[in-house]
Order: sequence, then C-alpha cells, then structure tokens
Amino acid sequence: MVSRVIPVDPFDLVIFGGTGDLARRKILPGLFRRFCAGQMPPSARVIGAARSDLDTQGYRDLVADAIAEFNSDFDHEADQLKGFLDRLEYVAIDAKGQEGWADLQKLLQGTDRIEAYYFSVSPSLFGDLAERLQQWGMADANSRIVVEKPFGRDLQTARTLNATLAKYFDERQIYRIDHYLGKETVQNLMAVRFGNMLFEPLWNSQYVDHIQITVAETVGVGGRGEYYDKSGAMRDMVQNHLMQLLCLIAMEPPARFDPDAVRDEKLKVIRALDPVKPHHIARGQYQAEPCNEAHHPGYRTAVGDPRSRTESFVALKTHISNWRWAGTPFYLRTGKRMAARSSEITVVFKETPHSIFAEDAGRHRNVLSIRLQPNEGITLGVTIKEPGPGGMRLVDVPLDMTFADALGPEGAEQVDAYERLIMDVIRGNQTLFMRGDEVEAAWAWTDPIIQGWEARNDVPKPYDSGSDGPTDAFELMRRDQRQWREVSA
Ligand code: NAD
Repeated sequence: MVSRVIPVDPFDLVIFGGTGDLARRKILPGLFRRFCAGQMPPSARVIGAARSDLDTQGYRDLVADAIAEFNSDFDHEADQLKGFLDRLEYVAIDAKGQEGWADLQKLLQGTDRIEAYYFSVSPSLFGDLAERLQQWGMADANSRIVVEKPFGRDLQTARTLNATLAKYFDERQIYRIDHYLGKETVQNLMAVRFGNMLFEPLWNSQYVDHIQITVAETVGVGGRGEYYDKSGAMRDMVQNHLMQLLCLIAMEPPARFDPDAVRDEKLKVIRALDPVKPHHIARGQYQAEPCNEAHHPGYRTAVGDPRSRTESFVALKTHISNWRWAGTPFYLRTGKRMAARSSEITVVFKETPHSIFAEDAGRHRNVLSIRLQPNEGITLGVTIKEPGPGGMRLVDVPLDMTFADALGPEGAEQVDAYERLIMDVIRGNQTLFMRGDEVEAAWAWTDPIIQGWEARNDVPKPYDSGSDGPTDAFELMRRDQRQWREVSA
C-alpha cells in the first residue's frame, strides 16, 4: 500500500524562536521531512525570527546543522537539503521592542497565502508577540498562531493568557500544541474506538476494571532544572499530556470527527473528573544513581536546591463521575529517571463472570495496551488454550494490532507528531489542538491538588533512579488489589 501525501496550500510559516532548542530539534527537522515527502508546495517559505543577530545565510547554516544532527534518516535525504534551505529566510527580531518588525512585515507583504506564526519562545513573550503582530498588521482573519506549552501555570494565569490572545485572535486561529495528540497511535486510538463495533459496547464500567496511563521518562531534569523546579510533574505532564490521553480514552463518541465535536466531548470528561483525594496521590523525587552520582545526580542537586519540594514523579487515582465510567478508577503515573522510557495506556477488562474451566486453568483478563512510545502500536491480550496435550490450560497471547505488518512499510510510515501538527495548522484543522476552555478546565482540576500540597507542606518521597517510582505509588495500587504494569521499553 502506498501512502498518499497531499500537498498543503502555499504558506509562510514564521517561527518566533527559530534558533531555539525546540525549533532546531523538532520543528525544522520535521518541516524538512515534510518537504522531502512532497507535502510542502514549492512556493512555501519558513521564516526564522529570533533575537540572534544572523543573516539568512547564517540561519540556513544553523538549520543545515540542526537537520544533520536531528534527522535520523538524513543520509537518504541529504540531496534534498539545498532545496529546503532555499525556502528559508531569517529576520532578527525583538518580541518586546520594535526591532525587526518592519523587516518581517516587508517580507510577508503582498503575498496571498496562509500565514502561520509559531510562538516557540518563552510563554512570557506570547502576549507581546500577539500584540506586535496586530500592531504591524499581520494578524488578519486568515492568519493563525501556534502556541507552545506551558499554557499558564494555574487557572488564573491560563485565563489571563487566553484573554490576552483573544484580544488579537479568534479562538479558531489559536493552535495550542500538545504534541502527544500528534502521535500516530493516539489517532489510531480514536480509529480503534470509533471505527469498530467490537470495542465500544465494552467501553464502560460494566466491562472495564480500570485504566492505567503511564508516561515514564529515563531522563532527569537535565539543563531545565530551574524551569522544572517551578513546575513539577503535575504541571509539566499531568495537566496537559496525561489529561489529553485520559480524555481520548474516556470521551463519548463525538457526532463527527471535527474539531469542536471532538473537543466538546473531551471537555465533558475533564469537567466530570472527581477531585483527587490526598491519599490517592503519590509524589516522588528521584535520588542520585548509586556509584554514578557525578553523571546522574539526584533531583535536588540537579535543580540546585537541597530543600526543593517539587515532584519529579506523581501517581494518582481519579474517577470520572458519569454514567459510562462510574466505578472504574483511572490511574495516572508519570516520572523522570524511571526504569524505561515508555508511554502507554492500558485498559484492563474485568474477568469473565464465571469460569467453566478447572481452577488450575487460571483466570485471565483481556488487556488492551496502547503504546505511544517507543514502538507505537496497539496490542490486545486474549486468552487461548495453551497448545498441546495435557488438558485445558489457559494462556494469554498478544493480538498485535500494530499496523506495519498489515499496511506494509509505506502504509505505516511514521510521521513525527510535530510534522503532523504543523501540517494541520496549515490545513486549518484544530482537532488535535487544545481549546482554551479545555486548558482552563484542566487547570481547574489540577490547581486544588497543587494547592493542597502547598498547604500541607507536602514533601515528595524519594525514589531510586532507574526504578518504577516511590513505594507509595505501588501502595496506591495494592490497596485496591491491583498492580501497575511494569515500565518497560
Ligand atoms: P530556547 O531558550 O532554546 O529558545 C528561545 C528562542 O526564543 C530563541 O530562538 C531566542 O532567540 C528567542 N527569543 C528569546 N527572547 C526573544 C525576544 N525577546 N524576541 C524574539 N525572540 C526571542 O527555548 P526552547 O527550548 O526552544 O523553547 C521554546 C518554547 O517551546 C518554550 O515555550 C518552551 O516551553 C516550549 N517547549 C520546548 C520544548 C523543548 O523540548 N525545547 C518542549 C516543549 C515545549
């Protein structure tokens, strides 16, 4: 099967922060891959706009280096690099002042194409950029802005940011990125749920025992210590990425696969979430790796604060108070410096109501696991008879619903989340972007949890680097006679 690449309409994409880490690691390498795939029309332009004092050639050199470093299949595509670099321009600009804006305006003047502005800068500059764009006449009805996370640090700041952006842009022009939503498997989750008759009748508390969502990282805070220590796992991961996954797994079938129908259903899930009880949360902070402290310091050393109370791990249990999910717990877990890098949603079904087999045949449960990284794919554990003579013994086997085998290597072409999302921005499709009210609702649920920790002076429990988190997280499950799936790559 051959994958179809449909070129998007001509566009100018301005990347504010076009020399930064995210632009170099993700945005520009992703655009280059779309260029190689033939999705970028020949007249499309990418304009880097940042503080560095570069000219266009200097910027093209910087981007060439970034692509060579971060595109894993660069060797196959090197001959296309020049064609891509020719599409790049650069403007030195100050988001807070007036420098560079006239140059940018001149560059964009007189073109009749889609204009997209990617705010890949500190969120403290989002408001300035929106204001300058409007001041210089670049915020017209056809333009759109892409904003990066974090979107606020609590409900109040998110509201303020939404209000600021709304002064200059309509909601339909604002694309709030959560790159988890751009992952192939996340969209496949919707295809599996809503494209098959098989799952939906079972997708409720009558048949589902519980659902686990794990996003485990092996990295520590690295060079982001100062930022991370003001944020923590709850703000950095749960409020956005895990919440989005929870919404997609739990939402009602939308009437149509269109942006507002999908986002309305996600919003209902967030609004139906129960407040989390303090004893249903485990917080942790990673400790130094024994014998390797110099390379892998503990959390407090890494952030430079021996008394830091910020969590690098959180596990919690929550419920969704609606007809579909009443009684089915959702367990969320995320952490840094864990045993493996793994993002997975696991739907654990109930046991059959009655076993017709002998007791030693064992009791089994179907487990649907949706794996986002690494090795994106969906597997359903089904129970069959263990082959061979010797009576009826049951065994679980995985029914692999990974698409590579069925669709062939081209059909299963993996498109990075950023590539897909940027192309969606150009197409004007907001389905995989968060709406302002969703973000606010997610903060409204998260804020009391964080405020509770602050009020109680809660101190996160230490956990070993390379483990699956603090013992409290296991206790949370054990109390319910359940267990976490092992974190494995
Ligand atoms: P960075 O510090 O590496 O780059 C910042 C960029 O902003 C640079 O290009 C710089 O020149 C530009 N800049 C700074 N001040 C400016 C000003 N006054 N006017 C114009 N340009 C200015 O940051 P980053 O890591 O690339 O992050 C960018 C955004 O993306 C942030 O909002 C961050 O939270 C978000 N983000 C980053 C990552 C990541 O992996 N780096 C992941 C998720 C979200």
